[in-house]
Amino acid sequence: MPMSTSFKERLFPKLNQIVNHFGTPFHIYDETGIINTSRTLLNAFSEVPYFREYYAVKALPNPAILEIMKGMGFGFDCSSIAELILSRNTGAFGEDIMFTSNNTSADEFAMALGYGGCILNLDDISLISKLPYMPELICFRYNPGAKRSGNTIIGNPVEAKYGVSHDQLIDAYRLAIQHGAKRFGLHTMLVSNELNYQYMVDTGQMLLELVEYISQELHIQFEFINMGGGIGIPYKPGDNPFDIMALGNAVSKQLDAFQKKHGYCPKLFLESGRYMTGPHGVLVTQAINYKNIYRKYIGVDACMSSLMRPGIYGAYHHISVLGKEDQPNTILYDVTGSLCENNDKFAIQRPLPEIIDGDILIIQDTGAHGHAMGFNYNGRLRPKELMLKTNGAVELVRREETISDHFSTLHFEPNILNLDSHD
Ligand SMILES: *Cc1c(COP(=O)(O)O)cnc(C)c1O
Repeated sequence: MPMSTSFKERLFPKLNQIVNHFGTPFHIYDETGIINTSRTLLNAFSEVPYFREYYAVKALPNPAILEIMKGMGFGFDCSSIAELILSRNTGAFGEDIMFTSNNTSADEFAMALGYGGCILNLDDISLISKLPYMPELICFRYNPGAKRSGNTIIGNPVEAKYGVSHDQLIDAYRLAIQHGAKRFGLHTMLVSNELNYQYMVDTGQMLLELVEYISQELHIQFEFINMGGGIGIPYKPGDNPFDIMALGNAVSKQLDAFQKKHGYCPKLFLESGRYMTGPHGVLVTQAINYKNIYRKYIGVDACMSSLMRPGIYGAYHHISVLGKEDQPNTILYDVTGSLCENNDKFAIQRPLPEIIDGDILIIQDTGAHGHAMGFNYNGRLRPKELMLKTNGAVELVRREETISDHFSTLHFEPNILNLDSHD
């Protein structure tokens, strides 16, 4: 099941009015849906002694969304300076923020440890020597290598650039202790868009076994484990939703057993992005051209600048045509943007009802890794973002890019380096 019936029933009857007022294309997010999913998540982990979600900001880095997450009591998972600034602008402070970066620069570490700091999640043992100082609380991202298989999107851990290898893990914590670390966490992220909850259950077990092992070796206790993001959503009709209740139950039993054995229990952190907002956004775009050559093409007024996932991963995004939801899908179309790139297609050979110029297409499940990933190739601009509020109003939460935004980096002070001519 893509987009929920509830979102559909609240959005579709008003969509012509919204299109007339704001113009296409736009992403629109469902505040009600995001709040409901947040409650479902909290409910699923209610048996866990201490649970906290750190929303993965990169999924939908919009202040209006971050405010909802903050209101639910969530922290933020950041991986860049821009994401840190956005999170701190909501009032998130110190341990409300987890900084999980990769190939991190000195500037980023300085920013992460400044302004009240954050929970630093280090991606490699070599990064310890790059920190301006060792914070009291430190976490490492673990890469199990050949011990786990990974899933198709994130790939095989042996080939993944993330995390500390198994053999270096003890040394990483030992070195952190030598540099003054006193409190510890352990993180991993092994899957992306995974629909089978058992994989995450295995991850929970793996983390707790590692905590046991490292604790014994180094005589330390762990304050938290972080199972990362990667909980999937059903993009295709017929996909089964992720069983979040089953995950919560299983992990709570694992933590219980750990508590009985060791007399304490680490906190459980999650940093879901896609699961929280993915299903609660759609890209609304208008059919502007029909072309009938070897295939039938519907050209729309959005392109990869609004949504890259189909183009770069061949990802499926379900499409509805407003007012034609009950018509039979009798025609095979490629639904395309206007980039000079043949992979600028939202759907390939997709059976849809007959579409004419002016029809409104709803491209679903764009609430995570949608707008955020858009790029400006060909000078195509990113669209606006709207929020369907719980009170039924629709609010602009980001304007569309303009041509002057796009050309803004062409305004600068002249700067010419005349290179020495001798060698
Ligand atoms: C991308 C990412 C997430 C969020 O992943 P989702 O698949 O959106 O849940 C969480 N943690 C880290 C470190 C990430 O890179």
